[in-house]
Amino acid sequence: MVEKNILLLFCEAGVYFAVMAGLLYGRRRFGIGLFVCAIGVMHFLETYLASFFYIQLPFGQLSPGSTVLFSGKLMMILMLHIKEDARIVRQPIYGLLIGNFLIVGLVMILRNHTVAALSPERLPDLSFIDEMGWLMVWGTILLFIDAIAIILLYERLGAWLRNLPFLRLSISGAVVLSFDQIGFYTALHFYSGAPFAAMLGGWAAKMGAAIVFSVLIMGYLRFVERETPAADHPLKDRRTRDVFHTLTFRERYEDLLQQTGRDTLTGVFNRRKLEYITARAFERDVSPSQPLSLLAIDVDRFKTVNDQHGHKTGDDVLRQLAKTLSDALRTEDHLFRFGGEEFVAICPNLGPAAAAIVAERLRAAVQQRSHEEFFGSTISIGVATAPMEAENYDALFVCADERLYAAKRHGRNRVVSAYSQLEEAESA
Ligand code: GH3
Ligand code: MG
Ligand code: MG
Repeated sequence: MVEKNILLLFCEAGVYFAVMAGLLYGRRRFGIGLFVCAIGVMHFLETYLASFFYIQLPFGQLSPGSTVLFSGKLMMILMLHIKEDARIVRQPIYGLLIGNFLIVGLVMILRNHTVAALSPERLPDLSFIDEMGWLMVWGTILLFIDAIAIILLYERLGAWLRNLPFLRLSISGAVVLSFDQIGFYTALHFYSGAPFAAMLGGWAAKMGAAIVFSVLIMGYLRFVERETPAADHPLKDRRTRDVFHTLTFRERYEDLLQQTGRDTLTGVFNRRKLEYITARAFERDVSPSQPLSLLAIDVDRFKTVNDQHGHKTGDDVLRQLAKTLSDALRTEDHLFRFGGEEFVAICPNLGPAAAAIVAERLRAAVQQRSHEEFFGSTISIGVATAPMEAENYDALFVCADERLYAAKRHGRNRVVSAYSQLEEAESA
């Protein structure tokens, strides 16, 4: 009896793996959609079995739904990541998340129907539908965390277990499945009084599944789809951080920022946007009655902040500096990160004298926080105004930039504008 149950579990795992691995193998010819759809479809059987269908083994009770299908799905997701990358694997991960929430949402609507019996014995099982409700929500969240965790763990373990792929696979599987078992059964226990035996039995079975599926994946990687040396290389250098960013669509967020003209580090506008905005301003708005001032800003001796406190701290300082500058500008002004530790402020409707005052306000705001927040950094600013001092953007920028360098030459932490140059010339 017990032997038969165990044999059947192996049989299920074998069939499941063979078909899924076959679909994965066929992805170049038929597309990845087949594999991804098959993973999604299996979810229903898995949930149904895990709710009701348990078998008794010497070490406890377990459900083939969790042991074979759920564990198998996570290992399949990992396998897809290994063969492809985070960009591909995030598709089923988010698809499952959204699909499962859709199920819960639809069920909440469906259960309000007045149902008609198809025949006297065939009434829908409303208790199952109810149970699917919040247990599905929790299970779905767990699955989402599991899927991301197993990939990140696998990547992380690469640092130590690069040459021991079987250990790397089975440890990733075992750790994440243990976490999942604790998370899911704690909820199941409080919700439907599932016995502790089911928790332990299910855990032992999942550990077995992690090993069995790791053996199968190893077989696949060795004998079915061997790595070619060229394809092997980029896979070996995946950084956990980059993988995490891809899995959480962070790079899409950064692309989005880029498209909206924002700098990804500081959140202020980027250089492309500067060119766009100034080109438009010069086409339409700049005139003697509507002057436009440009402030070229460079952080003083910023290299020493990086050298003494590291680039990470340097980045934090840049972020804070950008915020300080934004706060000190008027609402109609725009701040851009021009590059590295260089910023540009564009101030519409601001003449030379007022621009020098605004620049001085920026300089003072930074100096005020210099010791507490910026590790002693200050800023130098060159100010120029169109159309008085330049007729187009390029000339305006060159003029402000030359004054910025004059500010550096004269000792930094200062503003140079048309006025300060005059004073210099007068005092000379
Ligand atoms: P000064 O302008 O006063 O002459 O001195 P500086 O040290 O600021 O001069 P420089 O322009 O030569 O150096 C700029 C430094 O800014 C170089 C680089 O280490 C740092 N930097 C540029 N971009 C970034 C960035 O995105 N993050 C961090 N942390 N540092 C950056
Ligand atoms: Mg600098
Ligand atoms: Mg610089």
